[in-house]
Amino acid sequence: MKYDFKDETVQSTGLRFPKLELKKDEVGRVCPLSPKFEATITHWVTKLGYVHCFAKADTWEQLVAIERDGGKPDECLLCEMALRADTKEIVQLPNKRMATYALRYKTDMRGNLLGGQLSYYLEIWLLGNKKFRELQNLRKEWGNLQNHDLEIICTEAKYQNFDITLKKEALWNKDKVVKQAVIEYFKAEAVKYDLRKCLGDEIDIDTLKRRFEVIRRRMSPEAEVGLSEQDMFSKETTKKEEEDVFAKAETEGNIFPAEEGEKVPEATTKEEKKETEESSVLDSLVP
Ligand SMILES: [Zn+2]
Repeated sequence: MKYDFKDETVQSTGLRFPKLELKKDEVGRVCPLSPKFEATITHWVTKLGYVHCFAKADTWEQLVAIERDGGKPDECLLCEMALRADTKEIVQLPNKRMATYALRYKTDMRGNLLGGQLSYYLEIWLLGNKKFRELQNLRKEWGNLQNHDLEIICTEAKYQNFDITLKKEALWNKDKVVKQAVIEYFKAEAVKYDLRKCLGDEIDIDTLKRRFEVIRRRMSPEAEVGLSEQDMFSKETTKKEEEDVFAKAETEGNIFPAEEGEKVPEATTKEEKKETEESSVLDSLVP
């Protein structure tokens, strides 16, 4: 099937999810309600956003090793490209990234509950190594983070750097009835989002190669006239510069329409997968 790059209905097939993001100096209040998290290793690819590394990473040790060794070029085309002189500007070395479900309270910019009322929503918290370590340390010191809210202050918006302060209590579990309602809401919302997909695009090698061809063609000086960069890519994506960069890619980098035979992210969640996700959320909420 052929699509026009300007076709907006094509854009809407990209994976969208509520991402925890703050403006500079904004104060938020969250509770990492699920102590489970998804860990993955991804490459930042110009114009494509985050793409999952192809190297085998079934265990935490393997994830760590891929990052430590600066990629596995014999297992992953992207790792190879990240090292090659002619492509390393386009493909970054692989990095470990994590994601978890968090409860975010509705507050004003200073972190005060709106109208003093408790209202909340679920957000996906994408964590680079630095922020992940911070949460781990807090957990080590304070135990289960379900019992403590976190006040987060955004010190830098582009890379979403936060100052994190642990609160003595968690607003969501102060009242029995509210607590039950939050749990119901959280479970129902969490199953809608596959954390792995939130962390990056999973595409097969052939599709990846085709996409690179398009990028190369469009970026070369002999590119066809009449199709400017602006036409092709709705937004400029920026190069990853720090470990704690958050994905812009999920909503902005997915510039390619699904091709025939290729999976469309939202429609492919299997029942099985849903069950696993759900039970893990359930487990995690039982004290
Ligand atoms: Zn790789």
